[in-house]
Amino acid sequence: MSIPLLDLKAQYLAIKEEIDQAVLGVLDSSKFIFGPEMKTFEEEIAAYCGTKHAVAVGNGTDALVIALKACGIGPGDEVITSPFTFFASAESIAQVGATPVFVEIDPQTLNMDVAKLEAKITAKTKGIIPVHIFGQMADMDPILGLAQKYNLKVIEDAAQAIGAEYKGHKAGSMGDAGTFSFFPTKNLGGYGDGGMIVTNDDALAEEARVLRFHGCKTKYYHDEIGYNSRLDELQAAILRVKLRYIDEWNQGRAHKAAVYDQLLAPLAAEGKVILPYQEAELKHVFHLYVLRTAEREKLMAALTAKGIANAIYYPVPLHLQKAFADLGYQVGDFPLAEEACTQALAIPCYPELTDSQLHEIAQVILEVLG
Ligand SMILES: *Cc1c(COP(=O)(O)O)cnc(C)c1O
Repeated sequence: MSIPLLDLKAQYLAIKEEIDQAVLGVLDSSKFIFGPEMKTFEEEIAAYCGTKHAVAVGNGTDALVIALKACGIGPGDEVITSPFTFFASAESIAQVGATPVFVEIDPQTLNMDVAKLEAKITAKTKGIIPVHIFGQMADMDPILGLAQKYNLKVIEDAAQAIGAEYKGHKAGSMGDAGTFSFFPTKNLGGYGDGGMIVTNDDALAEEARVLRFHGCKTKYYHDEIGYNSRLDELQAAILRVKLRYIDEWNQGRAHKAAVYDQLLAPLAAEGKVILPYQEAELKHVFHLYVLRTAEREKLMAALTAKGIANAIYYPVPLHLQKAFADLGYQVGDFPLAEEACTQALAIPCYPELTDSQLHEIAQVILEVLG
């Protein structure tokens, strides 16, 4: 019996009636773009995150690009982010013509190391994109403190962290803007692409709305160059159903993670594996359960042989990506991020994973690394 990294079919079957009804409702209305589902979903996400505004867009990458642009960031500006994340966190910075600047990660949380952040700030720095990697928020208080001191914009890349919390604040709600992705495998995933920007800033929200629609306030009157980036009604209707379950699902993920933690604790105590680190005052939503081991290849082979899906997040840190070669970074610039890329492995961790599957996976790990 094989175990996938994520079981979207099981999730669909559990809520099939509601999803089917929502989809059929959209087909029946035959309103597909910029309709009532998107508008209501925006209101529901804003309420969920505790922000004044939510602006739906086509995907999580566009959410970052449009948020950066709405913050007035462009050519000549520098934006600091983590090298240990999905490419889009930095690609978006380059897309608006600005320069990504990387900062080393914290070896425990794998989020940006705030102690090393200030040294990266120059006269050109205009913003910071903290990435809440794998579902645990970056250390926002010091980041916001530095942003205030140097007058920088903060855009939270919360693509992996919807529902996560930092001292009671929801992911996305603490910076000038927060961005989400509704890519199917995210904790709140659509059946296609989708994204969202949340903010408390009226002007930023208004500018994001103009940018997502061809720089247009009045149809066919274009005030600036914008984008074509929208969340369609089918996705919005599906996501509205799934939003009702997100807390339950996030709790389910955290519960599976806690069981792994317990079962693998003896290995961790022997230093044979590093388990995900959880900050006490933070709520982690475990987009991925990522462990680290020096014997990753051996572990991958054993898991794969048993039909247990596993995946490397991420094989190459962003400062060493070919696309960023002209930024001039070299091997050794961020040793901790580079080491994480050689050791990190995600194993199945989703609400529908059964206890017996979870124990089977843990058993393989204990045997291989023990
Ligand atoms: C998924 C993801 C994105 C991009 O979202 P898309 O919807 O795929 O464009 C950005 N940042 C992070 C950290 C992500 O995981």
